[in-house]
Amino acid sequence: MEDKTKEDLRKRLLKEKEATEKGLGVISKRDVEDHVPGDFDPKFPNYGDDNYPEMDGVSPGEVADYLVRVYDTGELESRLNDIQAALEKLDGDDNFGYCEKCNESIDNARMQANPAARTCMNCAK
Ligand SMILES: [Zn+2]
Repeated sequence: MEDKTKEDLRKRLLKEKEATEKGLGVISKRDVEDHVPGDFDPKFPNYGDDNYPEMDGVSPGEVADYLVRVYDTGELESRLNDIQAALEKLDGDDNFGYCEKCNESIDNARMQANPAARTCMNCAK
């Protein structure tokens, strides 16, 4: 892969990393207690709509949004891990753009579509 292409992909990865971390900051907090790096816990929303005495100050809307956050936090967390792995490859040894499973180079169209791709199309199937 050409250096210029690598630099372009690096810029895109850094931008996406920032956006992903921002998103995680809004809906979750970093879990510092169980010492797993990059582990985030979704925040329970509080909209102040405590009209449900039988639910101890929690509303059905808050529960529903919490469940969405659980899902979204997992998605963003796994995306962030892929982005970080790609950036480490770019900085470290020369295996950026190569499939983690079969070691073949990942085709350019796939890398352009997803600079954090870990596998080639064949292995992704
Ligand atoms: Zn492969």
